[in-house]
Amino acid sequence: MTSFRFSGLLPLAALATTLFSLPACSTNSAAVTETSPPAATPAAADSGAVAAPAPATAPDPASIPAGSVANAAAIYARPQVPILCYHQIRDWRPKDSKGAKDYIVPVDAFKKQIQMLADSGYHTILPDQLYAYLTTGAALPDKPIMLTFDDTDLDQFTVARPELEKHGFKAVYFVMTVSLGRPRYMSKAQVKQLSDEGNVIGSHTWDHHNVKKYQGQDWVTQIDKPTKTLEEITGKKINYFAYPFGLWNPEAIPELKKRGFAAAFVLAEKRDQQDPLYTIRRIIASGYWSPRTLHNSIVQSF
Ligand SMILES: [Zn+2]
Repeated sequence: MTSFRFSGLLPLAALATTLFSLPACSTNSAAVTETSPPAATPAAADSGAVAAPAPATAPDPASIPAGSVANAAAIYARPQVPILCYHQIRDWRPKDSKGAKDYIVPVDAFKKQIQMLADSGYHTILPDQLYAYLTTGAALPDKPIMLTFDDTDLDQFTVARPELEKHGFKAVYFVMTVSLGRPRYMSKAQVKQLSDEGNVIGSHTWDHHNVKKYQGQDWVTQIDKPTKTLEEITGKKINYFAYPFGLWNPEAIPELKKRGFAAAFVLAEKRDQQDPLYTIRRIIASGYWSPRTLHNSIVQSF
């Protein structure tokens, strides 16, 4: 047991405070860009032609023959698809710290951010589409973007979900299973509903323990059991993982591969050139950001 492990007995506010105080989740990291961001849109750059319409469904990663999967260098070289990461969607309270407000997007600010995406012609894609694009060069819709929500907060269901529905947007919800059914967090039924409605549920550990510290049984507790729980809830295989705090190390990647994950998501740090599928970048859409700031960050960070 390390001091980093969150006890299920910790008050949730303390959990939140701890989460928010970690350096991996700073606004600075959200602004990081890689050295050579390609300017072209992924679909156009890949096909060299007009962007194809969005495929209605993307193939399951397991159905793509290994021989058809591009090598790491080719995957790394493809233009990145912008991916946003959200946590809480609620109005700020007096007790919210300055740092926490990056992770708490006020309701009106969230609505404006999503409206901006719709008005700007963005189309949400899901991980299977991203996987097919990265591994085989499959076409994506024009102006693709992925929306992801971490940590199981209830307002993702009550506030974000209806807002996304207005625009026909789908999203990915990375669930930490320790929270399921607790006050302020989603229930199993709500997670199932999100899945049934065409969103994707991803694994985000049991209690947000840092992957870099896992030893032995931690892989069972933090990855195997919670992922099985999510598969039981959704009735679907869970193919995608998000590292808590975006933190990963090279030792974690073979462990994720061994467990059948097709891809894994970090935050704004650089991708791993050997394993770009297991270090897919996301930026945290800050609660401080106007729609214009969000748009600039999307353009600059990917
Ligand atoms: Zn998280």
